[in-house]
Amino acid sequence: MPRLVIVSNRVALPRQTSTGGLGSAMHAATREQGGLWFGWSGKLAEHSGAVLHRQQHEQVDYVTMDLSRTDHDQYYAGFANRALWPLFHYRAGLVEYRRANMEGYLRVNELFADRLLPLLQPDDTIWVHDYHLIPLGALLRQRGVANRIGFFLHTPLPAAGLLIALPRHQELLGSLASYHLVGLHTERDQRALDDYFLHEAGARRLADGRLQDAAGACFRTRAFPISIDTGKVARQAERASRGLKIRQLRDSLGTRALVIGVDRLDYSKGLPERFKAYGRLLDRQAGLRKQVSFLQIAPHSRDTVPEYRQLRHQLERSAGHINGRYAEPDWTPISYVNRSFPHQLLTGYYRVARVGLVTPLRDGMNLVAKEYIASQDALDPGVLVLSRFAGAAQELDSALLVNPSDTEEVTEALETALSMPLQERQRRWRPMYEHLCRYDVNYWCKDFLDTLRQQPTGAIAPA
Ligand code: UDP
Repeated sequence: MPRLVIVSNRVALPRQTSTGGLGSAMHAATREQGGLWFGWSGKLAEHSGAVLHRQQHEQVDYVTMDLSRTDHDQYYAGFANRALWPLFHYRAGLVEYRRANMEGYLRVNELFADRLLPLLQPDDTIWVHDYHLIPLGALLRQRGVANRIGFFLHTPLPAAGLLIALPRHQELLGSLASYHLVGLHTERDQRALDDYFLHEAGARRLADGRLQDAAGACFRTRAFPISIDTGKVARQAERASRGLKIRQLRDSLGTRALVIGVDRLDYSKGLPERFKAYGRLLDRQAGLRKQVSFLQIAPHSRDTVPEYRQLRHQLERSAGHINGRYAEPDWTPISYVNRSFPHQLLTGYYRVARVGLVTPLRDGMNLVAKEYIASQDALDPGVLVLSRFAGAAQELDSALLVNPSDTEEVTEALETALSMPLQERQRRWRPMYEHLCRYDVNYWCKDFLDTLRQQPTGAIAPA
């Protein structure tokens, strides 16, 4: 079996406690076939990539490099997180394009290619991840790498009409044609990419379904909805629910129903809209006051980006306003916590919560929605209220699906969820759980790699 080489902005090092679903899937895939995981160390140094940090664990080499302050600011904070992130989440108004940042982004991608090149072997399968590293495949090709290379985008992809607003989009997105396979979360994202190539980049469709760009490069696009390690999450939730912290939470709730939200503090997650809908619920349904508590866990992220700081202040005001207006000496309507919680403990919280409130304005997939379903007790499952604009809504279609911008709709969904009879909760939960058991993260990983390895390496005749 050829070695698997994973390249991503950050590397989930072995024994790291915060390793999420992707980290464990990648560990499993590389452990089976031996491999290399390459990326940024998360640390700053005077010069980018001057030394490579190496760790070996169970047949896998973990190789990371530091970045200089300028490279970090331009590549990561600047172009990736202030231009691509908002654009890919349909927030054209938040895009801040600076030529120097794009150049820094390309420079760091060149550095990734240069540092990775000597580590590669001829039959390696290479899997590049996410919006930080879009041009990497093309840069490796320029350096003579002929291996199979796949790319997976972990964000949504907006329609071509928005993508072309990005200066030099041809250079950036056009470079995706250098991969053999480009994976996206949903068919909607895949359609957006196909449409971009067919209508904005002069590509054509081949008889076998692949695309061929104007320069003759052939590549396949396909949806691969990422998932979680469903069995593991279910077992963790069951175990966590017997632990002290969860017992304490149950005791503090008494007979009150818990509504839970868990999101990185990010403007794509629809948090102000969510708080508003919860405030409206308390307003409309005086009988629900003291009968419900909302726990929103929202660890800070990307604090150096101004929009994230503004969002923090806005949410602090909004939570303060709701509590100021409705709280009683023995009841706090909303607990808004900016700390990050260990994954296992979260699964226990999900299990206690009667409602999982997952309402991003746009989200590539949203793993929290899947974790919430996986964590439920089959005898007394909770209800998922889920945004139609999370990739997860394509699969979790017996959740209560809402438009997160429609405050009334979210409020009504909360009312419905809080009063839903047991039988209906079970009827909705069961098929979603079974789906997640079948299509878990290991399936996702294997499906992508099998598809990548099936791709022809040469060009074929046009349709
Ligand atoms: N998460 C966590 N601790 C926290 C908050 C979140 O472990 O305090 C995890 C959560 O369980 C999920 C991931 O972080 O696995 C978030 O993934 P998601 O796809 O929902 O959103 P993203 O942050 O990737 O946009």
